[in-house]
Amino acid sequence: MRPDSLAELGEFGLIDRIRSRFPAPSGVTGIGDDCAVIPQRSGNDTLVSTDMLVEGTHFLREDITPYDLGWKSAAVNLSDIAAMGGRPTATFLSLALPANLDPGWIEAFMNGYADISGRFDTALLGGDTTASPDRICINVAVLGECPSGKARLRSSAMSNDLICVTGPLGDSAAGLKAILQGVERDADVQRLIERHYRPVPRVPEGLELASNLYVHAMMDISDGISSDLEHILEASDLSAEIDVDAIPLSAVLKRVCKRYGWDPLALAAGGGEDYELLFTCSRQAEMVLTTPHFVIGRILSARPGPGRRITWRGGTPSAAGFDHFKKR
Ligand code: ADP
Ligand code: MG
Repeated sequence: MRPDSLAELGEFGLIDRIRSRFPAPSGVTGIGDDCAVIPQRSGNDTLVSTDMLVEGTHFLREDITPYDLGWKSAAVNLSDIAAMGGRPTATFLSLALPANLDPGWIEAFMNGYADISGRFDTALLGGDTTASPDRICINVAVLGECPSGKARLRSSAMSNDLICVTGPLGDSAAGLKAILQGVERDADVQRLIERHYRPVPRVPEGLELASNLYVHAMMDISDGISSDLEHILEASDLSAEIDVDAIPLSAVLKRVCKRYGWDPLALAAGGGEDYELLFTCSRQAEMVLTTPHFVIGRILSARPGPGRRITWRGGTPSAAGFDHFKKR
């Protein structure tokens, strides 16, 4: 049956439709991972990804500083290269801007963009600029590279792998909640908002993890772990169990949640934009990994039943990730 609206189809339903219309050429990883992987003759693979930020959907112009917006626009794209275990090489920046925007705003935006790009030696090599009737829209495309065949795909998880994350989850979602609810910005809340506005892509961590043969699947956490892990399980046709108590939570998150009666686990599991890496690896590999990480669960071969592929041990987080079209 044909769905009547995008809300019914959902963001991922729409992407599936596009994917079935445009199958990737042989040897190329196309739609469905954090980046496309395009083999080159040089012995390297080229990684490509693109991500858009729309005023009103991804940010509120009256709250985010232009510096932070520039930072975040580059950072979320660099994170997709990190997710593959690659090294970012270049970005392209396209801007749709209202004509009355202050030139000082653009200057500050560029400073944020340059600071995070410079941290990973990534050059801005092009883009496009156009007028927008009222809202700001930013699109970044990012290029990266990795040795041939070494990109970590969502489809390479293996049965009995451990499931790990590189850092605490939920800070960014709590920062967003604080912004939307207009809570007082003391030092703790400010720290969470900073995690939301200035994510640091885990590029060195991704490179280090990808240098270990037994680190199998990897992705970055942009939509929330419950939704993102589903992507790995779907692509690998496996299931998983997660120990809710093992999900790492920062002390700041716990303090702020206690104060406002928020559920830190719902934020950590269902909230997005942490941009930590989520990866699976064999037990032997986990013992020797030098990259800081937390083990939160295991990959299982049998599915828990029809529908979702994740069994939560110790509670079920309430929120279920972020879909751009589905009503919640
Ligand atoms: P991420 O959260 O890593 O940015 P998304 O969930 O946005 O990834 O996208 C999932 C996959 O679908 C990616 O491989 C992305 O390139 C692809 N994709 C998303 N939107 C489109 C589109 N409009 N056309 C083609 N591919 C798309
Ligand atoms: Mg991603």
